[in-house]
Amino acid sequence: MKISITAKPNTTTNNKTGGWRTEKPKFIYDKCTACAICPRACPEGIIYQTNKTNSSGKLPYDFDPNFCKGCGLCAEVCPFKAIIMEKEEK
Ligand code: SF4
Ligand code: SF4
Repeated sequence: MKISITAKPNTTTNNKTGGWRTEKPKFIYDKCTACAICPRACPEGIIYQTNKTNSSGKLPYDFDPNFCKGCGLCAEVCPFKAIIMEKEEK
């Protein structure tokens, strides 16, 4: 009997990861300059630009919690501290 326990590559958007992370990012819209650095750092490719104008007239970024694994890379690379990591509420 053959049992496969690994996921196929490039299936991230099919496999929801939100259930097992311990932290998640919080995007602070009014600090976001829309520099577009964080989406390039996210290994899951789930950071996107919103259509909500912030207090500086920018369209801030946000993330899809269904597929975020809580790695914290987005918060690390944001030069404006517009992303903080928070404990996941279960
Ligand atoms: S914590 Fe990691 S997976 Fe989640 S949005 Fe940030 S970079 Fe992407
Ligand atoms: S890196 Fe920070 S300032 Fe730049 S788009 Fe992302 S959240 Fe906004």
